[in-house]
Amino acid sequence: MQFDDLVTQQFRLKDSQARALSKLGIKTIEDLLYHFPARYAGEADTVIAKVVSQGTRKGWRRRVPMAEMQLLDTLGRKIKAIWFSQAYMAKMFNEGTFVRLSGKSKEYKGLLSFINPKIERATGELGTGPLFAHTPAPSTQNLVPVYPESRGVSSLWLTYALQKILSSNILEKAEDPIPTSILKKYSLPSLSASFIYIHRPKREGDAKAARKRFSFQEIFFIQLARQKAKKEYGQAGSYKIDGKRAAQEFTDRMSFVPTRAQKKALGAIVTDLAKPNPMMRLLEGDVGSGKTFVAAAAAYAVIQAGLQVAYMAPTEILAKQHFDSFIGMFSHMPDVEIGLLTGSGCRKYPSKIGVIGHPAVGEASTNISRSLMLKHIVAGQMNIVIGTHAHIADSVKWARLALVVIDEQHRFGVGQRATFVHKETKFPFGNLVSKYQPHLLSMTATPIPRTLALTIYGDLDLTLLDESPPGRKPIITKIVPPGERLAIYEHIRREVKSGRQAYVICPRINEPDPKKETALETKDVKTETERLGKEIFPELMVGMIHGKMKASEKDEVMAEFLAGEIHVLVATSVVEVGVNVPNATMIVIEGAERFGLAQLHQLRGRVLRSSHQAYCYLFTTAKAGQASKEGGDIPKRLSIIEKARSGFELAEQDLKLRGPGALGGNKQWGISDVGMEALQNLKMVEAARSEAKLILDSDPDLSGHPLLGSTIESLAPPHFE
Ligand code: ADP
Ligand code: MG
Repeated sequence: MQFDDLVTQQFRLKDSQARALSKLGIKTIEDLLYHFPARYAGEADTVIAKVVSQGTRKGWRRRVPMAEMQLLDTLGRKIKAIWFSQAYMAKMFNEGTFVRLSGKSKEYKGLLSFINPKIERATGELGTGPLFAHTPAPSTQNLVPVYPESRGVSSLWLTYALQKILSSNILEKAEDPIPTSILKKYSLPSLSASFIYIHRPKREGDAKAARKRFSFQEIFFIQLARQKAKKEYGQAGSYKIDGKRAAQEFTDRMSFVPTRAQKKALGAIVTDLAKPNPMMRLLEGDVGSGKTFVAAAAAYAVIQAGLQVAYMAPTEILAKQHFDSFIGMFSHMPDVEIGLLTGSGCRKYPSKIGVIGHPAVGEASTNISRSLMLKHIVAGQMNIVIGTHAHIADSVKWARLALVVIDEQHRFGVGQRATFVHKETKFPFGNLVSKYQPHLLSMTATPIPRTLALTIYGDLDLTLLDESPPGRKPIITKIVPPGERLAIYEHIRREVKSGRQAYVICPRINEPDPKKETALETKDVKTETERLGKEIFPELMVGMIHGKMKASEKDEVMAEFLAGEIHVLVATSVVEVGVNVPNATMIVIEGAERFGLAQLHQLRGRVLRSSHQAYCYLFTTAKAGQASKEGGDIPKRLSIIEKARSGFELAEQDLKLRGPGALGGNKQWGISDVGMEALQNLKMVEAARSEAKLILDSDPDLSGHPLLGSTIESLAPPHFE
């Protein structure tokens, strides 16, 4: 048996099993080996056994019917199970059926007996006799692995499959990609030992040691892959831009004084731009920390050098908003051309030659065709193109692309990022006319814990914007019990009277389906817009925005809200991303328990954009002790956001409270469950990072570590692609 043998080669599978395995992502023997138990059951508590005989009788003392079953377990031992007063139990399982018994057991003279155990059919896959007969002798093994199942393939089948694999000589041939010196340094078991420890542990410590190794391994591989890609990308040529003066000039034109953090970030970027190799920098700053200014100043320097900028936003709303504000920031430049490129069309500034330098709002830009837009870009005339990711990346050819800004980088899926991969070179932006790669500035407000940032951003230089613009008052966040709803509406009324605006966020667009209704009350945008407009705020303008609306409708609503014509905007979380309406100072979030903490934090960031006092009210009907779907007690989880000021603080606390599950699905980060476990351990992550660096320093192309090299080849692309 070999690691890369297909499971179908080694096992006779029913169609349903084959399908189920592929659903679990298991194709090869190696995949099976990496399908780890979710937990272990003490063998005394759970057995898989075949029913030998069963029957009922009246108990002699209490004359109540009693069921009794004789079984043989998979290790060939005799088992007896007894149910008092549940005589029907035994009749449900015929002789020859495989069942799983769990409960308290006692062993007496070699006979294992269960009293009132839970019993369930151990799904049919075991029906093949030989597997049963070939079960190795009991040995001292006393922990039974319980595997994550999927319909069609049971934990039981997985147990046997792995037993077969592990009793072959497959592990003798297994080479360990992690250098022995590293294993020794951190007391990690070898690869083959770890497979045995994790699938057939003798002691709890075995499984723990193995899990530790595998989580280190995963983080270490990711680090190697990212850092290697970084080295390679860093060797490509790029435009050397002397942007010092331009950046200063741009700063001087601003109506505000940049924060120290903004100046520092801009300084780092200006230094990067002057180098002959592309910048790869991540600007990480909480919502409202002023990332746009930093990016715009960098863009200004690039345009002044006669080069082009691509500015990507995750949504059309945001792209349009940046387009408008960039026109404001750049219109004093003679001959500047700014483009908007999205799925619903293209726009260009200036609309005609005559208005350069004198933009009249609303007339400054004009719709143009996509083909005309592409012509302007490839001719190098278009200085900045702002748009959604896919549309800029797709078919656009650039004359002199020198800077790529990715706003709200975390919102782009891994798949979307991969569309940038240039097949031959593995570098993003294959469609370049010049031989230079653009500088890359990624921006995010995702509050993620340090361990996750270190892991997934191994290919980026990190700059933190850890200071908010002056005069911002910390937002007041409160969990509001149902009884206090009206008082909050009064507060909104008062705020609107004094000139402010408010968001009301609902978890859904349409009315809930009563058949699928959950225990908690959930508001929807449409009903809530009606209700607020008619019953609560008849004297105010209540508007609505959600993701199912046409882009043009959304634009219109946003424009009205920005102009102050809409007082209360009812929305889904579409407004979560980067939308900037400084006059909005209140946000009410309905069904707050339905949002992740990070998302709630992003949402409340919408009202952190001015010097007015901002409020965030979290409405929830959840009671103390009520568990949330994402794990953790709902009120406890929400109270974290009441207290935490910065997104980073919040993410750390959430990780502590809920474990790695708090970070959202592992698909989002491309890290497996076992890898996510490492994220609770800063020391481990730092160790993986520094070991990866050490190896690459002495062996940049990993030619001295061929197995490591080929292993990381197959990993997901680095995030900047
Ligand atoms: P984010 O980091 O969330 O993208 P923005 O760049 O949208 O934040 O900035 C939020 C608001 O703060 C904008 O209205 C912007 O003009 C303003 N702003 C940015 N920097 C400063 C500063 N140094 N002083 C005052 N206001 C600032
Ligand atoms: Mg922003």
